[in-house]
Amino acid sequence: MKKILTHQGPQKIIFGDGAIRLLGQEIGLLERRYAFVVADRGIKEIGLLEGMLESLEEKGIRYIVFAEITPEPSPQLADQGAHMARKEGCDIVVGIGGGSSLDVAKAIAILITNGGMAEDYIGLELVPRPGLPTVMIPTTAGTGSEATFTAVFTMREKKSKGGINSRFMYSNLALLDPELTLSLPPAITATTGMDALTHAVEAFTSLQANPLSDLMAREAISLIGKFLPLATHNGENREARNKMLMGSLLGGLALASAGVGACHALAYSLGALFDVPHGLANAVLLPHVMRFNMDAALEKYAEISRLMNIVEMEESVDRAAQTAVDAISSLSRKIGIPRSLGELNIPESAIDDLAEASLTVKRPIENNPRNIDKEGAVAILREAF
Ligand code: NAD
Repeated sequence: MKKILTHQGPQKIIFGDGAIRLLGQEIGLLERRYAFVVADRGIKEIGLLEGMLESLEEKGIRYIVFAEITPEPSPQLADQGAHMARKEGCDIVVGIGGGSSLDVAKAIAILITNGGMAEDYIGLELVPRPGLPTVMIPTTAGTGSEATFTAVFTMREKKSKGGINSRFMYSNLALLDPELTLSLPPAITATTGMDALTHAVEAFTSLQANPLSDLMAREAISLIGKFLPLATHNGENREARNKMLMGSLLGGLALASAGVGACHALAYSLGALFDVPHGLANAVLLPHVMRFNMDAALEKYAEISRLMNIVEMEESVDRAAQTAVDAISSLSRKIGIPRSLGELNIPESAIDDLAEASLTVKRPIENNPRNIDKEGAVAILREAF
């Protein structure tokens, strides 16, 4: 069958400093009156919710805050939130925070109308009906969750990680205000920023890559390559925060269209088996996966080094492609990402289990530019130690 291009994303995107003040008005336009706000305690405590709550109050929108989200969330958090939102009679779900809060918010919205438990819907297109309308407000420049149809959960008791992937999970509004990311500490800026870069690189080299996803991935790579060190080391730099949030949104849109690859599959297994935060896992693995994929993605890698402005135009494709991998490793070092899985205290004896678990993450494995089997996964992991 010929390749057919489909692209979906949030219904509306608003981006800019101070955009959070438009929230009340936007919810009014959606004809909603009672918001279920999903966040984590950390961002509530540093006052990140104040602007949004003021905006809701100004427009007479009622709200209730569920600030119980923990990193790499369990599906039970979504069940708990949905129970509360249903009891309250909320008519819109607003997720504010990193990917963990946004993902739980998306799941709550579909649980309210579909019933059941979040874990029932983990898989591809298992959600029968649309959920409540949603607004997604990212406060990390990383996951791009505001733009994707995925909500990722960690099932710690089963030592597995999986996503609800449904067309009903695209948000009605992605509201991005770079000012909300000014408070991100350097370490979270670095790991979440590398997550965004991984989305862009893997979407760009995915077997599902297409002209639309390439357009977004290229811009994301060039923005993140340029501004991630600045955002990490000089967090109050508004231009760097603005460009990083745009890079992360574009990475999310590219991944929504083209998917991701083996780095994500391996990162999922590190998260599931050892609770390594998603961004950190991607950051440590990315250069190793890129080296494994080199021959299958040579032209695209060469283009990455041009997008990152690190080679002259006349440089050979082979040389430029190699330089892209080196540049990503050196970017990681510059922003303090650990170099190896050993530094994350992962035992080498886990390689076999990690490789096996990653091969069960089907879609990223299928999208990877080079065919990858257990031997390949083991080889990447060995390199990463
Ligand atoms: P996170 O949401 O887990 O947050 C990490 C920490 O950052 C938290 O302690 C939080 O309080 C803090 N934080 C967030 N914003 C802050 C701010 N502005 N200032 C200060 N502190 C702030 O981290 P994340 O990396 O954004 O999300 C990770 C989750 O997203 C994982 O579960 C991962 O699997 C998932 N994910 C989802 C998608 C998707 O498409 N849905 C894509 C990638 C990753």
